[in-house]
Amino acid sequence: ASGYSLMRDPRHNKGLAFTETERDAHYLRGLLPPVVLSQELQEKKLMHNLRQYQVPLQRYTALMDLQERNERLFYKLLIDNVEELLPVVYTPTVGEACQKYGSIFRRPQGLYISLKEKGKILEVLKNWPERSVQVIVVTDGERILGLGDLGCQGMGIPVGKLSLYTALGGVRPSACLPITIDVGTNNEKLLNDEFYIGLRQRRATGQEYAELLHEFMTAVKQNYGEKVLIQFEDFANHNAFELLARYSSSHLVFNDDIQGTASVVLAGLLASLRLLGGTLADHRFLFLGAGEAGTGIAELIALEISKQTGSPIEENRKKIWLVDSKGLIVDSRKESLQHFKKPWAHEHEPVKTLLDAVKAIKPTILIGTSGVGKQFTKEVVEAMASLNEKPLIMALSNPTSQAECTAEEAYTWTEGRAIFASGSPFDTFEYDGKVFVPGQANNAYIFPGFGLGVIISGAIRVHDDMLLAASEALAAQVTEEHYEKGMIYPPFSDIRKISANIAAKVAAKAYELGLASHLPQPKDLVKYAESCMYSPRYRTYR
Ligand code: NAP
Ligand code: MN
Repeated sequence: ASGYSLMRDPRHNKGLAFTETERDAHYLRGLLPPVVLSQELQEKKLMHNLRQYQVPLQRYTALMDLQERNERLFYKLLIDNVEELLPVVYTPTVGEACQKYGSIFRRPQGLYISLKEKGKILEVLKNWPERSVQVIVVTDGERILGLGDLGCQGMGIPVGKLSLYTALGGVRPSACLPITIDVGTNNEKLLNDEFYIGLRQRRATGQEYAELLHEFMTAVKQNYGEKVLIQFEDFANHNAFELLARYSSSHLVFNDDIQGTASVVLAGLLASLRLLGGTLADHRFLFLGAGEAGTGIAELIALEISKQTGSPIEENRKKIWLVDSKGLIVDSRKESLQHFKKPWAHEHEPVKTLLDAVKAIKPTILIGTSGVGKQFTKEVVEAMASLNEKPLIMALSNPTSQAECTAEEAYTWTEGRAIFASGSPFDTFEYDGKVFVPGQANNAYIFPGFGLGVIISGAIRVHDDMLLAASEALAAQVTEEHYEKGMIYPPFSDIRKISANIAAKVAAKAYELGLASHLPQPKDLVKYAESCMYSPRYRTYR
């Protein structure tokens, strides 16, 4: 290839890092200034530039520009500075980017499949230049983070999630395909926005929606085969549960909002047992919020208890209670409950408020997944503290402003006895001379390693036991040193190592279940996972 096209191709471009030999061999002389920089120096310069931007969205666009200019350098930055850059390429900044996607849009970064493409989805898939796709992240934009319906502008989410698949899980960038399905939007602001990039119509529902999704799922399997992982992301809960149920027996599907969340939270619970004592079956759980996150976590807890004790899942569900916007979910409400809430309607008189539910149920573990901030009031947390020596409190709603309570509140209101984790990050907190490190139940602990495990084993279906394996693998990474600080998750800076361990355990489970197609099974799965991981270091061109 000519030097000029080498430079213009983000997958091959090295910028000023092209060596003298490469400049001679590939007709690059004169197209670059004389200096030759190392990748490390390029990285240092870019990090310096990024830190000059005060506005988060500027950092986001600068990073997206880098991704489109020099892919390896983009991933090197992301991997080496993961804690600093994660909030930029993912939540919270990606949320703002989606809201303004119409104005900041430069170049498409994934595939757009709208109602206009009905009947032609297979052809659309063939327009994508990469043949060997291993992971698709797809959204319909209806429930983007905590921001609601952003229609076609939800594309920022699949793009961001897949860059984490590469950076944290080591999946090759060329194997990642972001897709947005556009069936319209009910967001009036976007419908009236002259820069909106999507279909200007209200959302298709019912049969029209189901047909488009079905054509999509069929076309993906036809084009890429059985072994492409389809991750559903940020669908509204009425569609999310149904799509997962409908396609989990025929396709390799994973919903991060339901299953990824469940797996990362279960990992925190398993790890916390070392601090709380007892087994999972000894605990009683109360949730505020009974949507994708709440019921997903609840179900995986019940499954894990079944696995540990051999008792039927119906029995274990009775240890788990959920409160939704109408109060405690109880049997007298069963008729009017959405499908996914029915298994949680246990025998009990009606209870309206969370505080009354805490008093009635006497939970040892309290988990917030309501999306509504400040619901774990002083009274609620104090009630937990009076019931338990070490109350476990998870305030998972995002972003920070929506957290059910802050780390400071959890530690102060329990006189330093709480074990606390949240969805959004909180700083360490000192109480009574002791430093507490709040855990962050970030889905990014799980999905990249989970996906890598699925890929390296060639799994053709996702089985719940693979989610349990991921949780156990993550919990096993928490050491004594971490426990002493009250941590129930390992430090995020070790994420590549953590992902390799999760991948190995997930793959091992896929082999055990007979769902793996990559044969023979590699001997040392951790080593094998590591050896498969993408490295962002520059290649040498001869
Ligand atoms: P969802 O499917 O819309 O569910 C929300 C649930 O909360 C619904 O059951 C809803 O009740 C209930 N709810 C709303 N307002 C309430 C109130 N005032 N009191 C009691 N319950 C209330 O949303 P989701 O996907 O589960 O996400 C929920 C939250 O979890 C979001 O903030 C999200 O950011 C967070 N989350 C965190 C993580 C993480 O930490 N890793 C992962 C995923 C999600 P009704 O059913 O009655 O409407
Ligand atoms: Mn999501």
